[in-house]
Amino acid sequence: MSATTTATTTGSAAPLTFPVRPSAAPVAAERRAEILAAPGFGRFFTDHMAVATWTRGTGWHDAAVVPYGPLQLDPAAAVLHYAQEVFEGLKAYRHADGSVWTFRPRANAARMARSARRLALPELGEDAFLEAVTQLVRTDEAWVPSGGESSLYLRPFMVATEAFLGVRAAHEVKFLVIASPAGSYFPGGVKPVSIWLSQNYTRASLGGTGSAKCGGNYAASLVAQEEAGAHGCDQVCFLDAAEQRYVEELGGMNLYFVHDDGSIVTPELTGTILEGITRASIVELAADLGHEVRERRVSIDEWREGVASGRITEVFACGTAAAVTPVGKLVSADGELSHGTGQAGEVTLAIRERLLDIQYGRAEDTHGWLHRLV
Ligand SMILES: *Cc1c(COP(=O)(O)O)cnc(C)c1O
Repeated sequence: MSATTTATTTGSAAPLTFPVRPSAAPVAAERRAEILAAPGFGRFFTDHMAVATWTRGTGWHDAAVVPYGPLQLDPAAAVLHYAQEVFEGLKAYRHADGSVWTFRPRANAARMARSARRLALPELGEDAFLEAVTQLVRTDEAWVPSGGESSLYLRPFMVATEAFLGVRAAHEVKFLVIASPAGSYFPGGVKPVSIWLSQNYTRASLGGTGSAKCGGNYAASLVAQEEAGAHGCDQVCFLDAAEQRYVEELGGMNLYFVHDDGSIVTPELTGTILEGITRASIVELAADLGHEVRERRVSIDEWREGVASGRITEVFACGTAAAVTPVGKLVSADGELSHGTGQAGEVTLAIRERLLDIQYGRAEDTHGWLHRLV
């Protein structure tokens, strides 16, 4: 291979760059303004996407920011059959002065590398991950909403594209980043969600893919989410697969329990829980706010008895999409258990505000979590 090859492997010295090939047909400014006025979540996409291809032996190459559009995928592409796929989720936040920032992107890059290892996908370096996100947001900066708790949701993902039906790790993979404007999660004020306790289905077992952010985990959780909906609940909570006893997490959010002495507990990472970046940030933020924070196992009995006795005063869920969401009740085949007054708890709201104030540049970023994009 010549020294001027465009091929770049993970460990090589030449960094992967994402030159921009601008769209010839971007969405008209008036239409974009209409979309940004009420974007909802995950329904609209920006004018561009970042792409890169990996082939065995060559490594990562052909990286670029290109016009957003459908992929051409062979029907035999491995991802369509064996779900060899991982993804990430992070946001770009517009600050009052117009600048655009993201939150702990290297933590997302590192988690994507861990997920990729578990799914036998190639690793993309942290710098390349950050470069893809940066170039895409700079190109589509006009799509970053402002006001309220709106943001531009970023979805990096990696899929096995090789056309081959044999069962092994694919030799051709694509990495992409797409972006979607998102409105405030709670436009009418923070409202508690109801949780259905899944006793027919589990999410993850030891040695499985529970701590990897992969589409397969979500595919397996949808039937439980539907069961939750059929019982009038917003979200589903999963217990550990081994004993059906310990609280793990929701379909896409981690859980926290606030106690009457001010201490805060979140289920410890046992290999089956997704290592949320919001979860990890709240461990530190809650400590800043004077709470004792513990990571340990929490049984479903402790949850029920704690709420009934008043020892547990608030429960909340957390993740990038909704930041911090209060839990208002727990529903299961055994009945319903209401939490508090049906309003968001005071500790939940204080932690939520602290996190959002940092993300939107309204409070000092004492942990150095923000990364400027524009
Ligand atoms: C992404 C995700 C979370 C939340 O992670 P954040 O990094 O905080 O967004 C929690 N649980 C599951 C299953 C997830 O996929």
